[in-house]
Amino acid sequence: MLSFTQDADGIAILELDYPGKSQNILNASSMTAFAETMQKLLADPAVKGIVLASAKKDFIAGGDLATFAAAHDRESFFSDMQGWHRLMRGMELGGKPIAAALNGSALGGGMEVALACHYRVAADNARARFGFPEVTLGLLPGAGGTQRLPRLLGMQAALPLLLEGKKVGADEAARLGLIHTVVPAGTERQAARQWILDLLHSGQKPEQPWDAKSFRIPGGGPGTPAGNQLLTTANALLREKTYNNYPAPRHILSCVYEGLATDIDTGLKIESRYFTDLVFSSEARNMIRSLFFGMQEANRLASRPANVPTQRYTKIGMLGAGMMGAGIAMATAVAGIDVILLDTTPEAAARGKDYARRQWSKQVEKGRMGATAMEALLARIHPTADYADLAGCELVIEAVFENREIKAEVTKKTEAVIPAEAIFASNTSTLPITGLAAASIRPASFIGLHFFSPAEKMPLVEIIVGQATSNATLARAMDFVRAIGKTPIVVNDSRGFYTTRIFSTYVAEGMTLLEEGVAPALIEKAGLMAGMPVGPLALTDEVSIELMHKIALQTKADIGTAYVETAADRVAAKMVETLGRLGRKSGAGFYDYPATGKKHLWPGLVQHFPVKVGAGETAVGDLIERLVLVQSAEAARCLAEGVLRAPIDADIGAILGWGYPAFRGGPIGWLHTLGLPQAVATLERLAAQHGTRFAPPQLLRDMAAQGTSFYPT
Ligand code: NAD
Repeated sequence: MLSFTQDADGIAILELDYPGKSQNILNASSMTAFAETMQKLLADPAVKGIVLASAKKDFIAGGDLATFAAAHDRESFFSDMQGWHRLMRGMELGGKPIAAALNGSALGGGMEVALACHYRVAADNARARFGFPEVTLGLLPGAGGTQRLPRLLGMQAALPLLLEGKKVGADEAARLGLIHTVVPAGTERQAARQWILDLLHSGQKPEQPWDAKSFRIPGGGPGTPAGNQLLTTANALLREKTYNNYPAPRHILSCVYEGLATDIDTGLKIESRYFTDLVFSSEARNMIRSLFFGMQEANRLASRPANVPTQRYTKIGMLGAGMMGAGIAMATAVAGIDVILLDTTPEAAARGKDYARRQWSKQVEKGRMGATAMEALLARIHPTADYADLAGCELVIEAVFENREIKAEVTKKTEAVIPAEAIFASNTSTLPITGLAAASIRPASFIGLHFFSPAEKMPLVEIIVGQATSNATLARAMDFVRAIGKTPIVVNDSRGFYTTRIFSTYVAEGMTLLEEGVAPALIEKAGLMAGMPVGPLALTDEVSIELMHKIALQTKADIGTAYVETAADRVAAKMVETLGRLGRKSGAGFYDYPATGKKHLWPGLVQHFPVKVGAGETAVGDLIERLVLVQSAEAARCLAEGVLRAPIDADIGAILGWGYPAFRGGPIGWLHTLGLPQAVATLERLAAQHGTRFAPPQLLRDMAAQGTSFYPT
C-alpha cells in the first residue's frame, strides 16, 4: 500500500503504491494505511520532514467511486470524512514540512491531499493533469478542496476549477498557483526534498497560508463587496445554465460561501455535510453509474462476444463522401487507419476529403494541431470512384443516400472486390439491417454501425445486429469502434433501432403538445427545464421537420393498415405540406432563422396552432414529466422487445447520442430513480390521460410487482 525510507538528513519519503491497481486511489483502506504511517512519521523525532510521492505513473487518481456509490449510512460516511480532515489538518499543523512530489496527474482527492501539503512540486510531464473533476460526476471535492483551493487562489480563480471540473497541465497549474513549481521529470522528489532542507535551515516553521494569523482570502471573502458580487453572479449564472437540476455545483457554491465566512476547520465540517448529501443523492449515483462505470464497461467492450481474436485495422473503405462519410473517414484517419473514400465521381470523393481539410485547418489555426500532423492525417484519406481500390479492406462502411436500391447496389459492387473475411457495415439511420443484408452474399458479415452527426466528434456508435449477423462480426465491429476511440452500444435490429426510436418520442411529444394548444415557448422551456440540451421544437428543426414527415410516410407505406396516425405526424405534415417550413436547413421551421441575429420561435406558429391551454392551466412540471417519461416508456419497450440487450446501453446511448441529462441516469436510469412501482403507476396515469405511448410494458409491471430493479439499489 505504501512504504517509506528515511535519509541521513531525517527526510522521509513516503511512497504511495495501491496494491493491484494501476493508479493510487483514496478509500477507507488506503486512507487508514496512509493515516497510520503519516502519524508515525509526524510523531517520530528523528523525522524532520516528509516527501509524499507515488510509485505509480501518476500521483493519485482520486477518491474511489465504487466506495462512494456503495456508501449506505450517512452518519458513518460523514464521520469517516471527519477522520480524513483530522489527518490532513494533522499534516498541516504537525510542525514538520511536508512536500508533495507530483510525478504525474493529481486529480480530485489526489489534488486535495497535495493541497494539504505545505509545498507542491510537479514533474514537467506533458501527460499530467491537475484539477477537481468531481462535479462532472455529481460530487464535490470533499477532502477539503472547496475550502483550501479558494483560500489559496481566491474565489475568482478557484470557482471555475471547482464548478467546471476543468483539468489543467503542469504549467497552467503553476501559473494559477495550484502548484509551486515545475521541474524536469524525474527530479521532483529531489526538488521536494531540497525545499524541505532549505526551510529547515532557514529556521522557519512550515505553515499553510490559512493558518497564518495575518491570513486574508486573496481577492476578498464572501463578506466583502467583491466576494459578494462574485458569488451572487455565479449563483445566477449557474441557475440559468442548469435549471437547478444539478445539486453538485450548487453545493460547491454553498461550501465556498458558507465555508469561507468562517475558519477552515468549521469550513471543512460544512463541506462534509454537503459532500455527504451529494454522495447519497440520486443525481451523483446516476452520473457515476452511467458516466463512469457504464462508460468504462462499454469502452473496454465488456459485452464483446468471447473467443473471437481481436481484429486489428489497417485499411477500411468508406462508401459515400457526404456529411457522414467524411466525418467517419476523419475519425478513422485520426486512429491511424487508412481510408478509401469512395463516391460516385472522383470530384464528389474529393469533396469529402476537402471537408476533412477544412475541419482540421481550423484546429491548425487554433494551434491545436501542427500543419505536418494535418498533412499526415490527410495522407491517410484516399478519395476515389473506383471500387477496385477497396481491395484489401478489412471493413467497408456505407454512408450513401438513405435508399434501399442504392445501398443494395453498392453492397454488391463492394463484395465483389473485398476479401471474403472482410465485414460490411451500413450507417443507415432508419432502414432495418436484416432487410439491407438481403442484398449481401455474406449476411453473417453484415452489420449496422450507426454514427451520429458530426461523426468526427460525436462519441457514440450504435451497433446493430441483424438476424444473420454472426458473433464474430459483432466482435470485430466492436474492435473497430474501440480502435477509433468511440463508445459502442449494441442493439438488435428494429425500426429506428434504439436511439432514433427514443429520441423521436421526445420531438414527437413536443409536436403533440403544440397540437394540444400549449404555448410554443412553454413547450421549449419545459424541455430545457427537463435537462435536455434543446427544446423539442428546436430539435425537430435541427433534424428537419421534413425528415420526420418522410419517416412517417415511409412507415405508413411499410406497415400499411397497422399504421396509426399521431398528432406529431399531423403537425409535421402541416408544417411541410401546407406551410412549406421544413426545418433549420431551409431556414424556416418552428423557428425563424434571420440572417443576422438569433433564431426565435416563428410568430406565425400560434396562428396555425392556436394556444388553447393557458399558462395557468398547464403546470410546467406536467410537461416535463411527459417529455421525460415518454422516452422512458419507449426505452422500457426496447428492453422488453429485446431491441436492447442491457439497460445500461439505453442510458449511455441516450446521454451520448442526444444529450439526455446525465443527472437522471438515462431513460432507464430515470425509471430506476423513481422506483419501478412509482414509475409504473405514473406511466399508467399518463397512458390513461394521453395515450398508449406512455403505457408501461409488461416487463416493467412484472419487475415492479416482483420488487426487482434494473440496477442495484
Ligand atoms: P449525404 O447526402 O451528405 O451523403 C451521401 C453521399 O453518398 C453523397 O456524397 C453521395 O454522392 C454519395 N452517394 C450516393 N450514391 C452513391 C453511390 N451509388 N456510390 C457511392 N456514393 C454514393 O448523406 P449523409 O447525411 O452523409 O447520410 C448518409 C447515410 O448516413 C444515410 O444512410 C443516412 O441515413 C445515414 N445517417 C445520417 C446521419 C445524419 O445526421 N446526416 C446520421 C446517421 C446516419
